Amino acid sequence: MKTLSILGSTGSIGTQTLEIVRKFPNEFKITGLTTNKHIELLKKQIKEFKPEAVAVMDEEKADLLKADVPVYKGIDGLVKIAKLSEADTVVNSLVGSIGVLPTIKAIESHKNIALANKETLVTAGSIVMEKVKQHNISLMPIDSEHSAIWQCLNGEDKKTVNKITITCSGGAFKNKTKKELEKVTAKDALKHPTWDMGAKITIDCATLMNKGFEVIEAHWLYNLSYEKIDVILHPESIIHSLVEFNDHSTIAQLGIPSMKIPIQYALTFPKRFKNSELPQLELKKISQLNFKEISNELFPCLDYAYKAGKTGGSLPAVMNAANEIAVYAFLENKIKFLDIASLIKKKMDEHKVIKNPNLNEILSVDKKIKEETKKEIEE
Ligand code: MN
Repeated sequence: MKTLSILGSTGSIGTQTLEIVRKFPNEFKITGLTTNKHIELLKKQIKEFKPEAVAVMDEEKADLLKADVPVYKGIDGLVKIAKLSEADTVVNSLVGSIGVLPTIKAIESHKNIALANKETLVTAGSIVMEKVKQHNISLMPIDSEHSAIWQCLNGEDKKTVNKITITCSGGAFKNKTKKELEKVTAKDALKHPTWDMGAKITIDCATLMNKGFEVIEAHWLYNLSYEKIDVILHPESIIHSLVEFNDHSTIAQLGIPSMKIPIQYALTFPKRFKNSELPQLELKKISQLNFKEISNELFPCLDYAYKAGKTGGSLPAVMNAANEIAVYAFLENKIKFLDIASLIKKKMDEHKVIKNPNLNEILSVDKKIKEETKKEIEE
């Protein structure tokens, strides 16, 4: 039996993870759960899954939660849950750079990590991968693309990889012109054509920043240079990614767009569990798979991510911090869609890169850039 703590258990990935856990009561036990502020849902989860302890990020909300188990609060609370001694695996489905520290603390406590939080590897990839090696734990990706690459590489010699191709649905605005993009709203962006996800990541999909994050994550997860990582538009989201080997054979992983498949694989690896409730792929109903090159002019965030990744140091943390603030400002209709990319570019251009930053330097860059970006939006 695996024992799991889920950071961000009331979000999109968190609730879907609990659905998998519910399906296999003899395989998984829940040790800890956390929420940002959804305490009503957390209460139900406590009743059903009986964790040892929980944490609420929002301290005022934490005070409102009456439970039979210890309730920790704030970032210290998230870290406490990440370190709970009874858990062998921590599922990190937090959104934003808040997810970095709990991942690192969990690794230092010898937990295996099932990682959905993108910011962990984007902002602190070098530190995290070093810790993974040092503590000899398993890092399992919960993302359709990285899960696909992981499955394609299963049993292969990584030295024989020529390149990987990450597929990209294109988000809500893939068919828009520059003129149209000037006027799109958060409401338009939240109608994602193939994937059902949280608000932040849905906007990241519309700007292609999400794909940029995935390129940086793939670089760290699979130890590949950026020249070997390609991205292609594939609107149907059926092929989740591909790996080309040195004999020019290419292996792809396919499935209908449901996060439950990569979540379950991360939880059951190296085994596969039968789950007939997971949707089947029926290619005859789809009939056509399309591929197209991505327009860097319309969606510059992907280029920014390659630049941030190749430069390394503190630059990816700057890109992420500016993006995080800009996306929430766009969701609140405070800035326009195209302002997201402009703000990111401005903060990246201004930044004097710190080479080989330590964790504190990364976290303080994150804080500083977030404050500056907020200020610029308000002015
Ligand atoms: Mn993805």
